[in-house]
Amino acid sequence: AKRLFTFRRGAADRTADATEALGLKGSNLAVLASLDLPVPPGFTISTSAWREAVAAGSDLPPALRNEMLAAIEWLEGVTGRTFDGSDKPLLLAVRTSARAIMPGLADTVLDVGLNNRTVERLAQELGDLGFAFRSYRRFIESYCSLVYSMDPGEFDEVADKQRERSGWQGGEPHSLVDWRTLIGAYLSFVEDEVGEAMPQSPLEQLYRVVEASFASWRGPVARAFRMVHGIGENAGLAVTIHAMIFNERGEKSGTGRALSRDLKTGEPQLTGEFALGGRGGDGIQPHVEPIDLGAPSIQSLFPADLGALADHARRIEAHMGDACEIDFMVGDGELFLLQSRILKRSVAEGIRIAIAMTREGLIGEEDALLRIEPSALDQLLHPSIERGEEVVVIGKGMPASPGAASGQIVFSSEQAIALAAEGRKSILVRNETLPEDVHGMHVTEGVLTVRGGTTSHAAVVARGIGKPCVTGAGALRVNTEAGTLTASGRVLEYGDWLTIDGTTGEVIAGAPKLKRPSLTGDFATLMEFSDRARRMRVRTNAETPAEARAARAFGAEGIGLCRTEHMFFEGERISMMREMILARDEAGRRAALDKLLPIQRSDFIELFEIMAGMPVMIRLLDPPLHEFLPKGDQEITETASSLGISVAVVNERIDALHEFNPMLGHRGCRLAISHPEIVEMQARAIFEAAIEAGERKGKAVVPEIMVPLVGLRKELDFVKARVDGVAKLVMAERNREITYLVGTMIELPRAIVRADTIAEVADFFSFGTNDLTQTVYGISRDDAANFLSAYERQGIIERDPFQTLDIEGVGELIALGVEKARRTRPDIPLGVCGEQGGDPASIAFFERTGLDYVSCSPYRVPIARLAAAQAAI
Ligand code: PEP
Ligand code: MG
Repeated sequence: AKRLFTFRRGAADRTADATEALGLKGSNLAVLASLDLPVPPGFTISTSAWREAVAAGSDLPPALRNEMLAAIEWLEGVTGRTFDGSDKPLLLAVRTSARAIMPGLADTVLDVGLNNRTVERLAQELGDLGFAFRSYRRFIESYCSLVYSMDPGEFDEVADKQRERSGWQGGEPHSLVDWRTLIGAYLSFVEDEVGEAMPQSPLEQLYRVVEASFASWRGPVARAFRMVHGIGENAGLAVTIHAMIFNERGEKSGTGRALSRDLKTGEPQLTGEFALGGRGGDGIQPHVEPIDLGAPSIQSLFPADLGALADHARRIEAHMGDACEIDFMVGDGELFLLQSRILKRSVAEGIRIAIAMTREGLIGEEDALLRIEPSALDQLLHPSIERGEEVVVIGKGMPASPGAASGQIVFSSEQAIALAAEGRKSILVRNETLPEDVHGMHVTEGVLTVRGGTTSHAAVVARGIGKPCVTGAGALRVNTEAGTLTASGRVLEYGDWLTIDGTTGEVIAGAPKLKRPSLTGDFATLMEFSDRARRMRVRTNAETPAEARAARAFGAEGIGLCRTEHMFFEGERISMMREMILARDEAGRRAALDKLLPIQRSDFIELFEIMAGMPVMIRLLDPPLHEFLPKGDQEITETASSLGISVAVVNERIDALHEFNPMLGHRGCRLAISHPEIVEMQARAIFEAAIEAGERKGKAVVPEIMVPLVGLRKELDFVKARVDGVAKLVMAERNREITYLVGTMIELPRAIVRADTIAEVADFFSFGTNDLTQTVYGISRDDAANFLSAYERQGIIERDPFQTLDIEGVGELIALGVEKARRTRPDIPLGVCGEQGGDPASIAFFERTGLDYVSCSPYRVPIARLAAAQAAI
């Protein structure tokens, strides 16, 4: 294989696998050179030459030396300089070039070729003694640091001694004699330290620097980095050698970084910065403020052709097909490009650039869509902590629901409500949240829990209502009685300001400045592109009016899951619910349900109106009843007195409802079968609401009623018969036709296996991937956080299957369910409403599997729109 690849403006040796052979810097310089852009001339030693040299031992193999010699002769011809310094000296920069940026590799060595003779020739040529010797001094230091592993700081003592002896002032000598003496002292110091003289021969210097650069590949830091990032030990190192640019000399030189676009607007406008490079007389870089390349004064300050730089940037951008940044240098008024790369950007900047580039016709809509990472949109949908702010991080937990929020610490929902009543902001801090905390969560700014994972109650509810949430901050101590939160040795109290960042999991003392999101402009355009590209529909999981409105603003095309149980926790409702559950018999339950009916009905009317003709899927009551029961002596006493029954009776009922494994217990359609009156109330509320909302808006509402946790076709038969019965009654009472659908959640393995027969009765299926994952794995979704992190650490699973669908397990079953369902009913609408419905990787799978829609929490809707678009491209 080829050992050396030369480059100069307008010509470069190219190879197909350039990054592989020449590393990032080497291959990039070759590209710039062949685009006829001004690069310093030079050559790159390839990774295969490195491999050959490593195999040969520590000295460079003769074949490589010979080729380097030939390349130097070529470079002498190109530059009109000589490496042995017989005429104007040729000086070289040597840089390691791996295919990824890798810490631990040798730093660039500048001015290779300087020796006692060439330094004085350079001084003569430039008429600048200080510059030439300063460069030589720095070269000796960096050479010794790389080749002999000496600490450059050791030279300070040598310099101090010489200053005293020769009597010069400041950081460096001022006369030729004193410079010679100082350099002489440096060189003898090196010889004493390492037992050999530092080579004076430029060629020998170059060989040794290249050898040491090669060897840096095997250093512990680089090796550790490769291990972590899965880069092979044999991937290899290239070394790029090019003519020096005197960017640190005089008024007309300097260093800069140019961006092909303005990140604030996305427009093709040169930005970036430039620092004049002349060193002070003391050899110390004077403190030069970098100048903004976009500043109006730049024209007069910039020592080279700014228009040419802008042209180069455009050319590179066109070649890369993306916005770029360029490292450049100016030496005595002449511009050189050293490296270009794709421009780093935030999500918002990325969207801006992608949209601007489509507007300019540089890329198509699909390209633009593929350039944005869907999950990253999260950062735009929520407030975030203003960057550059100093913050005091006092703890860290799981990023359970994105966004940053600040408020005063409260330890209970009651306290949160009390603060909200006074118009004050709070952060609800709990060990964990319970269903009855939902009303507190609605009024607080954010939720912090000590326990629980990303699918804990707090996390799921917070995501649903778009409140920032950090869970599982295990190092925090909450003392609710004392009203204290202890973190990192600090004790915070009720009312102290606290900030949580649900995007990062950070817990921060105080209230740093927050930035608000904006959903218009380029973001809206990106969403339009997504909607044109995707096939699957995107619905939302929502039950409150606030959620439904938020979801519509985010572009949801209907509700895919309305969890009716969440409607029963607020205020008065919970006591009616308790009355129903605690009732001794069906008559008692019906009496309580009669009170709940109008409340449910008006909730549904509001939802139907907000969704204005879009489909709304309502799930019948799902959770085990004991979740609604009073907890603790005080609540039990209160409940007993408000219902006019004794505490003993309440306790008796609570005992009777106790279950060992409630998630696999008396819940879902099992409740409907044991207590059909609950279904009847809910169905009536839904149908009456549909009629009323339809009358008000003049548009028919088609409710979709969903039965949870079905495993047997007969379960669905039973519940559907009740729903149909109520529909007939309501239609007769109101003398109106109602169109409605009755379908089922598919969240048990048995339902998958029997999907073909269940599809005979179901109008639709919605895969409940939360419960399905729980039941397929046999892992409790509420307890998984305690051990799944260990699984991830040990590499047993890669990702939490409750967040990203386990494609090979649960996914395989879903595919089976889809196939069986379609066998019975080819056009049966199929969707998914578990957490994974908002996860981009899972969405890609749902697209492949042919689902009709995904449903996710409101704040994930834009992510799902983009992810569904990418999946369809
Ligand atoms: C599910 O199980 O996936 C689901 C959406 O329902 P829930 O989370 O309410 O059990
Ligand atoms: Mg479920």
